[in-house]
Amino acid sequence: MVKKITAVFFAALISAAFTACGASREYSSDFFAMDTYMSVKTCGTDATGAAEDEARRLETLFSVTDAESEIGRLNANGRVDASDETVELIEKALEISGITDGALDITVYPAVRAWGFTTGEYSVPSPEKIEELRDLIGFTNVKTDGNTVSVPDGYMVDLGAVAKGYLGDRVRDILKNEGVTSAIADLGGSIVTVGGKPDGSPWRVAIRDPNGDGSFGVIEVKDKCVVTSGGYERYFTDEDGVKRWHIIDPATAEPADAGLLSATVIGEDGALCDGLSTALFVMGAEKAEAMWRKEGGFEMILVTITGDVLVTDGIKDSFSLSEGSPYELKVIG
Ligand code: ADP
Ligand code: MG
Repeated sequence: MVKKITAVFFAALISAAFTACGASREYSSDFFAMDTYMSVKTCGTDATGAAEDEARRLETLFSVTDAESEIGRLNANGRVDASDETVELIEKALEISGITDGALDITVYPAVRAWGFTTGEYSVPSPEKIEELRDLIGFTNVKTDGNTVSVPDGYMVDLGAVAKGYLGDRVRDILKNEGVTSAIADLGGSIVTVGGKPDGSPWRVAIRDPNGDGSFGVIEVKDKCVVTSGGYERYFTDEDGVKRWHIIDPATAEPADAGLLSATVIGEDGALCDGLSTALFVMGAEKAEAMWRKEGGFEMILVTITGDVLVTDGIKDSFSLSEGSPYELKVIG
């Protein structure tokens, strides 16, 4: 008996085996890089190895836990002569910080570390410590001069909020150069698609339910990235029973607490989508909506703690809420 399996990709969740490419030959590779599981599927042409190689290459530039990476050396010495690519991604992140009013801030790393999110040894820092951490956060203190990047004493840079989206951009370009016209990659919550499926229909990307293991809906896309940031990825529960997650509000040096459980951004530019998804999670629904109106160029799906799924007008026809979903769908128009 042949079971019909719907090809659905999970944002922020590695998906089980399925037939992504229909009648076309499917090439698939699953690997661990940048501290997360990744999965690449190409239809018709095998180029999955090149995607994996790229993830490993970028890791040697951006890894914050590798003392030898460019970011590792910047954090150890306060300055580094970096590659064009690292400088460009830092400058792009700084620009996103500007448009998000500092909600994205690549200098939150001392706080990420103090809360234990790098090691898994979680703890709530003392109020004095949090005060100190706040003084070590401020993206305007990251300076670039040609290829030299520098930060003040005690500052540390972490590109974790944009790196996987940037990898998505690179993977898409590499696959296209290899002649791939149909592919989908899940780069640890950062999904990138090349074209649609071989039969011309769009890719179906399921968005992880922040309150459970499954998904709450599906977005159909072609040639787009879909990036989700959520509180469910890396968190612990503190003494008061409050969930403390790895996305930090740069203004408080504490886990963001703006009423969202996840923020998904859909657009063309992966690094931007990734940076925005983190920033929207920090900003909350109201500010996110205001920014969507002002800046444009992206669409979003926000899940609120009160059980709403807020979807922007540009994707309302390509998004569908799962049948029997406990969430209420509202369109931001
Ligand atoms: P993930 O990489 O876990 O899928 P994100 O793209 O949202 O999720 O990035 C979160 C990572 O970025 C955290 O692990 C942390 O290292 C860093 N980070 C946390 N808060 C911020 C922030 N406000 N701005 C920039 N980087 C952040
Ligand atoms: Mg991000």
